[in-house]
Amino acid sequence: MITFYPGPSKVYPQVADYAADAIRQGIVSLNHRSAGFMDIVQETIRLLHEKLDIPADYHIALVSSATECWEIVAQSLTAEASLHPYSGAFGKKWAEYAYRIKPPTSLSEADVLCIVQNETSNGTQVNMETLSQFRRDFSSLIAVDAVSSMAGIAFDWTLADVWFASVQKCFGLPAGLAVLVYSPAALKRAEEIGENNHYNSLLFIHENFSKFQTPYTPNGLSIYMLMRVLQQVSAIAVVNTMTKKRAADWYAFFEKPELGPDFRLLIEDRVTRSDTVIAIEGSEAAIKSIKAAAQQAGITLGNGYGDWKNTTFRIANFPAISDEEIGTLMEFLRSY
Ligand SMILES: *Cc1c(COP(=O)(O)O)cnc(C)c1O
Repeated sequence: MITFYPGPSKVYPQVADYAADAIRQGIVSLNHRSAGFMDIVQETIRLLHEKLDIPADYHIALVSSATECWEIVAQSLTAEASLHPYSGAFGKKWAEYAYRIKPPTSLSEADVLCIVQNETSNGTQVNMETLSQFRRDFSSLIAVDAVSSMAGIAFDWTLADVWFASVQKCFGLPAGLAVLVYSPAALKRAEEIGENNHYNSLLFIHENFSKFQTPYTPNGLSIYMLMRVLQQVSAIAVVNTMTKKRAADWYAFFEKPELGPDFRLLIEDRVTRSDTVIAIEGSEAAIKSIKAAAQQAGITLGNGYGDWKNTTFRIANFPAISDEEIGTLMEFLRSY
């Protein structure tokens, strides 16, 4: 079975060995305040800076999910209100979670702008040019959900103050861990707000990670596997080129269209098309039958999501997927 599901998604095959190593070598039994464990956290953070080209003055912490990051932004970084210009299901969910924690009193005093860089539900993205426009127009903090693009495409990190992603998408790992990147300005804001009521208050997280520790017993297995995957992957500039080439190939394939008239790209505007999640639209019946036929052929297509649940399927364009697997899917679609 090969999978193009956009999360949880295909994990790097090497992860099986990394998991076995973590257990055989007793890494999962290390006390999380021990030197051995702190070394793994330190090396993981060093590798994140190196492989993803994250600015040296941006801080990195590891938490358990992107959903947790939504709440951290609301509780620890939002003084008045957050703004959520969204275009899909994940952006909407983020706004709902944020407003439960920080009900907006006056949106004209919004002090955090929350952007979903890659909207996994419908295959759109906010590219770096658009993000730089937001940066020029909005003077306060910008927080970016990059769950389905971080480690898949390159970012200009300086265009936002907070970036986060869980690892079950472009990192090619099992779910249960998230990377939270925050700028010196974000830390300063957290200090001004001074919110320290939660186990995952950003100030408490920061204090722990400055010692390469975590507030609570962390997912040590996942942190170790992340370290090993980061050792294995190419620098983000290389991965970025590969992802964008594959995305261009996918869009050319569907524009031709090599797959009959029953299906079309959900997103017509080329500028907003995602590089990492491709959404294909069709009638409910057509979508249902192509997903079933793919399954028969040993290929899992991603279901639609949210408003597009029954009228689209999605194809993950994540780095762990091989050229051979992409070839197999293209062949299946051509002959469908
Ligand atoms: C998958 C996804 C999430 C949710 O991630 P969790 O790890 O389940 O919290 C959030 N935002 C986007 C854009 C996603 O694709």
